[in-house]
Amino acid sequence: MASQKVAIVTGSNKGIGYAIVKGLCEKYEGLVYVTARNVERGEKAVKSLKDLGFNPSFHQLDVNDQDSVDKFRDYIKTTHGGIDVLVNNAAIAFDNDAKEPVSEQAEKTLSTNYFSLVRVCDALFPLLRENAQVVNVSSSAGHLSRIPSTDLKKKFSDPSLTVEQLDDLMKQFISDTKNGSHGEKGWGNSTYVVSKVGVSALTRIQQRMFNAESPQRNVSCNSVHPGYVDTDMTNHKGLLTIEEGAKAPLFLALGQHQLKGQYIWLNTDVVDWLA
Ligand code: NDP
Repeated sequence: MASQKVAIVTGSNKGIGYAIVKGLCEKYEGLVYVTARNVERGEKAVKSLKDLGFNPSFHQLDVNDQDSVDKFRDYIKTTHGGIDVLVNNAAIAFDNDAKEPVSEQAEKTLSTNYFSLVRVCDALFPLLRENAQVVNVSSSAGHLSRIPSTDLKKKFSDPSLTVEQLDDLMKQFISDTKNGSHGEKGWGNSTYVVSKVGVSALTRIQQRMFNAESPQRNVSCNSVHPGYVDTDMTNHKGLLTIEEGAKAPLFLALGQHQLKGQYIWLNTDVVDWLA
């Protein structure tokens, strides 16, 4: 008998991640994992999904904590042997009027939104089964056009860019914010933009790596802008419900598409990331 399919959503105790889990519980034939850095918040989310008649599983996962990521990987490997859907949703954003220095915002934002996403992928990609779907939740802020410098745009979109080179670009941004040169170097002023452009660029590299695999697992890896959604991250100013925000990530996660290495919008249209 084939083993049960497994779907995992990071940062799914609330917001869009919670709604992605809810949608997967409705539509995906397999086990769906709520994961959260805080066990209490995670279990509360599981309870509210159970109250709706769903039956998700739960595991602690703090994407910033290598030990937590390793424990989660070991648990999934031992319990299920593999993963069929991985939605990298967990992220943070500083408020526009945040008082923290930009260098601190850069360090923290890139740490969670970019470097921890890479950490989760490094740990979990070896467990992906044939035909797995990887969904990286990016943003409209993750479109390449949001980076002002032509030179930086060229680097981000280089078709032979490696994860190591992309890591270095991200580290360069952090160091440029420390000496205040990020503006003149053409990074723009938003640490969130840089983190999400990183996620979109990473998605293209990851797909290239999956395509080059032998044996071929036929993994699809895409990034998505979920729309402007009413969550804590937007201080509830977003116009869409979390269920509406989950629509495009769910479309990718459920795998009824042929997309590989693409960047899609909330209406599920493919958007040219380079334009
Ligand atoms: P929320 O702030 O509502 O939820 C973010 C989730 O990520 C929470 O569950 C949070 O957990 C979790 N998280 C943060 N840090 C960690 C960590 N270190 N380990 C594990 N989980 C963590 O945000 P949204 O639901 O709005 O955002 C979801 C995704 O959608 C993000 O990637 C965001 O960038 C993206 N997005 C959102 C848009 C919007 O309009 N809302 C627009 C475009 C993109 P905790 O409760 O513990 O803080």
